[in-house]
Amino acid sequence: MLVQVAVPVPNLDLLTYSVPDGVDVPAIGARVVVPLGARVVTGIVVENENSEARTQTVKALREVLDREAFVPADVVALARWTAEYYAAGVGDTIPMLLPPMARGGRADAHKTTRVAAITAAGLSVLQGARAFSASARKPHERATVDAPKRAREGGQASADDAERPAESLALQRPLTSKQLEALELLAGTPTGIGTPALAARGIAADTISRLARHGYISLRHDRVERDPWTGAGGVPEECRSGVGVDSDTARQLTGEQAAALERLRKLAAAGDFRVALLHGVTGSGKTEIFIRLSAAVRAAGRTVLMLVPEIALTPAAATLFRLAFGERVAIQHSGLSDGERHDQWQRIRRGDVDVVVGTRSAVFAPLERVGLVVVDEEHDSSYKQEEIPRYNGRDVAIVRAQRAGALIVLGSATPSMETYHNAMTGKYERVVLQRRILDRPLAAVTVVDMREEYAAAGPDVILSRALTDAVRARLDDREQSLVLLNRRGFSTAIFCRQCAGTIDCPNCSVSLVVHGEGSARRARCHYCNYTARVPAACPLCAGPYLEQMGFGTERVEAELRKMCPGARVARLDRDAIRRRGALNALLTRFRDGEIDVLVGTQMIAKGHDFPRVTLVGVVSADVGLGLADFRAAERTFQLLTQVAGRAGRGEQRGEAIVQTLYPNHYSIQLACRQDYPAFYERELHFRKAMRYPPLVSLVNTVVRARTFSAAMDDAADVVQKVRESDSGRGDFRVLGPAPAPLGRLRGEYRAQLLLKGTNRRKMREALQSALASRPELQRRAIVDVDPISVL
Ligand code: ADP
Ligand code: ZN
Repeated sequence: MLVQVAVPVPNLDLLTYSVPDGVDVPAIGARVVVPLGARVVTGIVVENENSEARTQTVKALREVLDREAFVPADVVALARWTAEYYAAGVGDTIPMLLPPMARGGRADAHKTTRVAAITAAGLSVLQGARAFSASARKPHERATVDAPKRAREGGQASADDAERPAESLALQRPLTSKQLEALELLAGTPTGIGTPALAARGIAADTISRLARHGYISLRHDRVERDPWTGAGGVPEECRSGVGVDSDTARQLTGEQAAALERLRKLAAAGDFRVALLHGVTGSGKTEIFIRLSAAVRAAGRTVLMLVPEIALTPAAATLFRLAFGERVAIQHSGLSDGERHDQWQRIRRGDVDVVVGTRSAVFAPLERVGLVVVDEEHDSSYKQEEIPRYNGRDVAIVRAQRAGALIVLGSATPSMETYHNAMTGKYERVVLQRRILDRPLAAVTVVDMREEYAAAGPDVILSRALTDAVRARLDDREQSLVLLNRRGFSTAIFCRQCAGTIDCPNCSVSLVVHGEGSARRARCHYCNYTARVPAACPLCAGPYLEQMGFGTERVEAELRKMCPGARVARLDRDAIRRRGALNALLTRFRDGEIDVLVGTQMIAKGHDFPRVTLVGVVSADVGLGLADFRAAERTFQLLTQVAGRAGRGEQRGEAIVQTLYPNHYSIQLACRQDYPAFYERELHFRKAMRYPPLVSLVNTVVRARTFSAAMDDAADVVQKVRESDSGRGDFRVLGPAPAPLGRLRGEYRAQLLLKGTNRRKMREALQSALASRPELQRRAIVDVDPISVL
């Protein structure tokens, strides 16, 4: 008997092993230990019905780790589909299928804690002590028995006090006040209290062990779930039980929400695969719909997979799900520790949860009976994994829903061109929410033409007069502002006025970005993290006239402090949140009103719901338009619409001020009018003319090499082979070779070729066969199916 096994080794296809006599054939999804060259590795059985009689040449597997599927068979099949579609090896998907600690076979690695519980003997001793103190002691002398109360009030019991025997002559054994205190606590929680929790209340380990020796308490080891919610800023106490979506506290849906929910509920109830786009403007209450729809699906006995772009950045949605479904929710994202991930995975696998909320890799969660998949903010580029396998979590989710016979809802205020196209051509259902909750108006948007600003106030202006005035007005009214600039750093280039050169990264074809001011100033590459001091003279011509050009979020932050003295300004970008916990702290401070103005990159534009924000400023709205990427306009439109959507979500109306050098660009104009359909029509026209998605599919290939000419030659070789395999059938077009827009990265040169066509399989096969003849080149080629960007 032969089995096909996926092993976690890059770029490998399935491997065939024989099952030794006397060993049961492992199930699909079981883990097996197999020899691979000189090593042994843990893999997953992907197929077990192969009867080809090649037994002599095939090695035998060493060990079967699971009697049943460790990973559900349908998830294994989904991973296999993903590998094929995205031109990766099957083994490349294994890390996403297994919880972190299962790779070495230690599937049951878990944390336990000692739990103490009061025994019958302990209870009677305690009752005796209570009776004694009530009858024999006068109130002012009740120091000993009142110790717990004092401890709660912050009073310190002295060591002497704590260990002095309670003078309870009624007892056979004298108890210390600490022991009594422990018994009191434990009597209140008959199921027991973990020793860490007891320690936190001042009950030491030796107090516990003495009580246990007397038989007054029992000790056991309990498995503990490492709770990821504590990392996400904590969950309110009521979330632990789950308040339920149909309880009296549930709010009334708006008419539009109710109608949308009704349509989606019907689709879900049909029990077939359907894709629906929930296209709702920012602040239209999509989350509420997702929660109620989930409750309906759960009531019908099926489970829910909810994908979100970044939990750490917007923990609110996950918390709301936790509120609604209590302990029946699991959370999965890369910010969890290995232990937390492991525990969450096991809970899902055991069937302890009905709802999984997670980021893109949660699409492979071992959830069974999936009846609903939700992809929130489906347009978000963080669904795309930018390393092997280069899958898009949204698209894999659609396949998962299809295979599970489930409804999948894609939610967004700014759907991707692909999704909207499918909705317009009738492939997807389209459900629309046109109004904000309580009919709150969308932000009123003003465009500031920076050319006029420069003419009036000089070329160094960063914040226009309109934006500065608006921020000041918010400070007077104690309202909050968000200021977006989608570019990090203090200044974005160092330029020599003598030779006109810029200071570039030695490893990458980009200029270095200056971070920090004064003595903390450093020049850094945003691609490889190369860091250098900012030189005093030009390294090219030795000229002393170096100038910093362009500006990023750090500069905007400094400028706001200067223009608005006294304002509490903070910054949210990748640099500001390097420290663990910094992101959470920042978001909490902003929510609590301890920050007046928050400056940041696109991170501040994501699904946040801060009711006190009434102003959104956008500095250099056109940063993204300069990029040679076919999605530049789409990205700009989405970013501006989303960030403007952060304003006016409370009772006060919101305002947005957008600074740009291109006030007439359609992506900026239409975002300011928040006119998605018009943007779609306009952009579709461009995509048609240029033959770009959603009208064709793309496969982008980047060839890396040590020299520029080697990269170009190898890319040309691939182009030629791909053309030959198509040999005039015209199934697709090949563009290139050309130097990649990022021509050099981490010391390697990069050349690019692009396949455009309507049949992805044919494009992928042509490429794979072209690369198969040169395994060495294959390792240097990055193949990206459905790229999110071609930079
Ligand atoms: P979206 O995701 O569509 O931008 P949210 O789901 O964040 O919108 O909802 C916007 C705000 O409206 C949130 O503060 C939410 O709590 C509130 N909300 C949602 N539905 C209702 C409702 N039916 N009544 C009152 N407030 C609501
Ligand atoms: Zn670099």
